[in-house]
Amino acid sequence: MGRRLVREGTAASPGIVIGPAHVVAWERPRVPHQAITDDQVEAEVARFREAREATRLRIQEIQAETSERLGSIEAQIFEPQLMMLEDSDLIRDVEAYIGENHISAARALEIRMLEFQSEWRQTGHPMVMDRLNDLLDLEARLIRQLLGTGDPDGVLGGITEPVILVGRDFAPSLTVQLDPTRVLGLATDAGTRTSHSAIIARALGIPAVVGLTDLAREVEEGDELVLDGRVGTVIVLPTEEERRIYRARDVRVREWEQELVLLAHLEPVTPDRQPVLLRANIDLPGEAKTAKEHGAQGIGLLRTEFLVIGRRSPPDEEGQYQAYKRVAESFRNQAVLIRTFDVGGDKFPHFLQMPPEENPYLGWRAIRMCLDMPELFRTQLRALLRSTVHGDVRIMLPMISAVEELRATRRMLEEEEDRLNADGIPFNPGYKLGIMIETPAAALTAAEMTRYADFFSIGTNDLTQYVLAIDRNNAKLSSRFTSFHPAVLRLMASTAAVGREAGLEVSICGELAASPLGVYLLLGLGITALSVGPSALPEVKKVVRSVPATDARARVSQALEAPDTATVMAILEEGISHWLDLSLFSGRWNLSESE
Ligand code: PEP
Ligand code: MG
Repeated sequence: MGRRLVREGTAASPGIVIGPAHVVAWERPRVPHQAITDDQVEAEVARFREAREATRLRIQEIQAETSERLGSIEAQIFEPQLMMLEDSDLIRDVEAYIGENHISAARALEIRMLEFQSEWRQTGHPMVMDRLNDLLDLEARLIRQLLGTGDPDGVLGGITEPVILVGRDFAPSLTVQLDPTRVLGLATDAGTRTSHSAIIARALGIPAVVGLTDLAREVEEGDELVLDGRVGTVIVLPTEEERRIYRARDVRVREWEQELVLLAHLEPVTPDRQPVLLRANIDLPGEAKTAKEHGAQGIGLLRTEFLVIGRRSPPDEEGQYQAYKRVAESFRNQAVLIRTFDVGGDKFPHFLQMPPEENPYLGWRAIRMCLDMPELFRTQLRALLRSTVHGDVRIMLPMISAVEELRATRRMLEEEEDRLNADGIPFNPGYKLGIMIETPAAALTAAEMTRYADFFSIGTNDLTQYVLAIDRNNAKLSSRFTSFHPAVLRLMASTAAVGREAGLEVSICGELAASPLGVYLLLGLGITALSVGPSALPEVKKVVRSVPATDARARVSQALEAPDTATVMAILEEGISHWLDLSLFSGRWNLSESE
């Protein structure tokens, strides 16, 4: 039929909704070319200052509302915009453009922002692009302020009936003002799961699909849409049959979600009594609480980049110690694996001069950078050592590719232990030091690594990226990026076997452990410590409690002989389908059978 369309994007906030589209074109206002005279320069600079001040007040207002409505972590989303408003380079440059080129403040700002954008776009990286949306949000507010065209928040005023908003992207400051009773869902052409607007949509409980490329152009005002934020599908002008299927799916998914809530306090043990350790991956100490509520039995990965990214000076020992202590105390009798700084690649702290690199992911990052910056690294190691008295804190090193890196870190740790002893500062000398297995080199030299490491944690995201030589963030390659490739499978199998033989715990902290087929595969490889994002824990537990470990092992030994990814997946899907309905899981899992 006519314009019926099915689009697959990125599932950004779960929920299934059906409703009319409201297409929002939130364009940057057009700035007229307007020359100013010498004697107007001062007044224009003053107008720029006033616009910044008014914008700052409005953003702070939105931030306060966000804090009240959603919580303080969500409110932090507006920090970078506030920082940008005070950015001395930005202010200096705009003022200079006004004075030197005799142009209006709005035009000068527009030019400076265009320069920023082209610098940022050159990186092409999704995380940087996410932040670009924040920059554009701020620019639009400032320019409207300067042009006197009013508050952009007015674009939401016309919504009277429940609609699904469709647009290129939604500014975080607008998304946060959405009313979930009138906005059924969000469908955007740009954005990723980690865009600020996606994070806010999840917090508001509004289903969202992002990264739909050009949907906004194809949809007309009032078109009926089906939006499945669980798998990332949008259907424009669905058939009667599709509407029926999605309504039924919505009911089944809701029942399933209720069942998952009940799982939080049940043991993660397979039907044939194989216990499994389920820990959580977290990015901020504050998330430890959510992890616990979701039934985590410890932290399998605390990323510590929050201490350095976006900071203007290196974090001090005391601040770090307090952060680590807080997480350790949340899980007193359970393991807390804290990973040392994994910066470089896509994450740049302000206080470091990161060299421009041809291949940042093969560059000066993580353990390589830490070993080259002993002051930064030793401060972190000391803070980590001190936190070992508050729980079972284990130190984990990222991106290890040579045993020397592990030996060098051990030496540094011993020296820091001596210094702490000399200073009379307590730590637990029995703490564990382990490594992430996320390079082929580490996997292939796992036996040598066991001489110096107390545990392994396989980072399947990077391991897959480096084994397949496929950028994990390149949307064009996403269908080829798969941890079910036989090469990745075999390296995981050999690493797990080596670790087991040496008596080391081998856990997993990559995304693979958050997918039903991944859990089945890992159980089959004999890996019984899994760490995933807190929200994925219930589904992972559901898999663990449904599939017998003996069955998983039998299927996986078959899959290990398979020549290609498709065969691996077919063997695993056939095996797991005896125990679970995959179509109910988040992510696009075998929907074809039921839809
Ligand atoms: C990984 O690489 O699998 C991993 C868990 O680390 P990150 O995603 O932080 O690189
Ligand atoms: Mg990694």
